[in-house]
Amino acid sequence: MSQEVCRLKAQLEEQEKEIAALKNKLSQREKSRTSAPELRDKVTPLTPLKGKPSLSNEDIMRYSRQLLLPELGVKGQLNLSKTSVLIVGCGGLGCPLALYLAAAGIGRLGLLDYDEVELSNLHRQVLHGEENQGQAKALSAANAVGRLNSTVECIPYHLQLSPENALQLIQQYPAAESSTNIMADCSDNVPTRYLVNDACVLSGRPLVSAGALRMEGQLTVYNYRGGPCYRCLYPVPPPPETVTNCSDGGVLGVVPGIMGCLQALEVVKIASGQGCILNSRITYSTFPSLAIHIFCLVIVMNQQHSTAKRDWDGCFVPL
Ligand SMILES: [Zn+2]
Repeated sequence: MSQEVCRLKAQLEEQEKEIAALKNKLSQREKSRTSAPELRDKVTPLTPLKGKPSLSNEDIMRYSRQLLLPELGVKGQLNLSKTSVLIVGCGGLGCPLALYLAAAGIGRLGLLDYDEVELSNLHRQVLHGEENQGQAKALSAANAVGRLNSTVECIPYHLQLSPENALQLIQQYPAAESSTNIMADCSDNVPTRYLVNDACVLSGRPLVSAGALRMEGQLTVYNYRGGPCYRCLYPVPPPPETVTNCSDGGVLGVVPGIMGCLQALEVVKIASGQGCILNSRITYSTFPSLAIHIFCLVIVMNQQHSTAKRDWDGCFVPL
């Protein structure tokens, strides 16, 4: 009889454990459902980002390996939590960039893309999965980022950047107290690059810009503390017929992956206030025959950038 009681007690304990695990799973599902980011199709006002006054025990556990670095430390980590980054383009560059910024504990991530996920994206746009085909890239990216770090505020925008909304959108990311807010250009076309650059110059935001095509990539920080902008380097847009994109020229998936990670590193350095910024220099990375060549060029500021009064309409390069 006592053996039977013991067996039943053990069975009961087992089932109670199972119920507790299921309850936990349910509450996590409910939490993720209620915190699912809302996809925006227009620019709407955002509440100012407050950032964390101090790190919680969970933060200390989560970020412990990077908190150990003297280059970051608690101060750098808190600075990350006070920083907003708007990522223009959730493709081959934007995916690794968003992933590492969320993992690092950035405060707010704006994710902008007007496109939907396609099968041909998946070899390089690693936030999206097969099940996301047909879904807005911005939402797919925001959901993936939310699974990695639910403490990061994610704002997905399913809209195309235009002269009408660019400045308004960028100004929605005001600098929180004692922090720098950053724009990241991960777009794949020339007009958007000029548009993002001009909006950054007008609103005084630093711009971390990268590009990748075939087996090559480049990376620069523009408009950082009065430094050169994209127009200083490329004052005249190239003729459209000379511009190749990934769908025409091809790209090895890992190349934008590497460039997006380097972009994340520059954003983290600016946001944390630590490290030497890739300002006034441009890094070219080429991977011929899968070898690695990286070299850096110095950019000279165009006189017009510092002296000319900018005309916003005139800055836009027509599509
Ligand atoms: Zn300039």
